[in-house]
Amino acid sequence: NDISPQKQQTPTIPPVLDSNKSKVVKEIERIAANREQRRARQDERRQKLSEVDQSIPAWEFQAMVSEYRQQLDVKLLVMNDPQKDLKICVCVRKRPITKKELNKKDIDVLTIPNKEVVIVHLPKVKVDLTKYIDNQKFRFDYGFHETCNNELVYHFTAHPLVQSLFQGNNPMVFAYGQTGSGKTYTMGGDLSQRDVDFSKGIYALTANDIFRHLNKPPNKGQFDVYCTFFEIYCTKVFDLFNEKKRLRVLEDHKNLVQVVGKKEEQVETVEDVMTLIRRGMSVRTSGTTSANENSSRSHAIFQITLKKKNATKDYGKISLIDLAGSERGKDTQTSDKTTLMEGAQINKSLLTLKECIRSLGRNAEHVPFRGSTLTKVLRDSFIGEKSKVCMIAMVSPGNSDVEHTLNTLRYADRVKELNVDEVKRG
Ligand code: ADP
Ligand code: MG
Repeated sequence: NDISPQKQQTPTIPPVLDSNKSKVVKEIERIAANREQRRARQDERRQKLSEVDQSIPAWEFQAMVSEYRQQLDVKLLVMNDPQKDLKICVCVRKRPITKKELNKKDIDVLTIPNKEVVIVHLPKVKVDLTKYIDNQKFRFDYGFHETCNNELVYHFTAHPLVQSLFQGNNPMVFAYGQTGSGKTYTMGGDLSQRDVDFSKGIYALTANDIFRHLNKPPNKGQFDVYCTFFEIYCTKVFDLFNEKKRLRVLEDHKNLVQVVGKKEEQVETVEDVMTLIRRGMSVRTSGTTSANENSSRSHAIFQITLKKKNATKDYGKISLIDLAGSERGKDTQTSDKTTLMEGAQINKSLLTLKECIRSLGRNAEHVPFRGSTLTKVLRDSFIGEKSKVCMIAMVSPGNSDVEHTLNTLRYADRVKELNVDEVKRG
């Protein structure tokens, strides 16, 4: 009797527990399965969204840009257009969009419809998800559309400055812009081919022009010609004609700035100059980091100097400058100390450069050239009533670069504001 109730109980309990447990397990399994399904649906939705984000809006925006372009009055800059006589000339050059960019579904959001206007088409989405393009217009001394070649760019930028050089001045041409926008292509020539062609870069075209002038009276037999080529990385100067030997920058009691010990190469023909450019540019891009990385962090200064025969003083000097990538100065995302320091230095030099050009444009007493090594070594070009500067702001056409493009256009715009003052003072 004592045992029987227990015996009766034991068989009844386990089934109850068992069924409870399996209910809980089943419920958990059901929740898990639901979660899986939900996740799968979410993934699918995300996948669909990302496909849409990458292709369809780009396509829609591209259509809007095309439509906008169709109603523009297009009149592109040509060789026969008149050259302007400017103390400060600021222009913009757009490079063609690359296959690589198109493959990444990037779109061309830049239009240069005539010789001085640049339009950025900013893709935007309203709160109600309607897409539209915000067209921002800028005006410069010259706008070089994507089909312009280096000869045309040369004709309106460095060419007028060669005349100034023969009048005994120290003019400068700057190539400004983010890495990959075409600075080196414009200054040095097309380096993408295996047989690098330096003959169509502004360096060689300038040299060519100089020798043409030298062979004509009254210049014939009057001058010796020298080249120097050096690079500024942070505050340090390196000689590109001398295996990147470190050079010192000294300022004497008369405020004259000297880059001590830089190698001056005498040249007699355009071929001599091209040989030197080839040498200097290969020295510039050699190093531990990749070619582009390396050169995008430094300013390269190529100078051609005229000296009257038997004179010790320079007669005139033209400086052609391939600036460091302008995006470097804005790079604050990194925590790498060296990169931050490089960025800060590049930023400082580009801001000082802008201020120096503005001072020059105002014929100001004080030029803040001490603010950076770049402007220090160019000091004698910033001093003097007759100094002339040309800034070519290079821009990439892709939507993925549009923020950098706007920064470049805004920078160039601030350098140019002065021209408006000049006209007013007229
Ligand atoms: P940056 O010196 O500003 O970093 P690059 O001059 O090296 O830029 O140009 C980047 C790439 O675009 C190179 O492959 C170059 O050949 C190409 N490129 C630049 N400008 C042009 C142009 N106007 N026409 C054709 N290709 C160009
Ligand atoms: Mg470059």
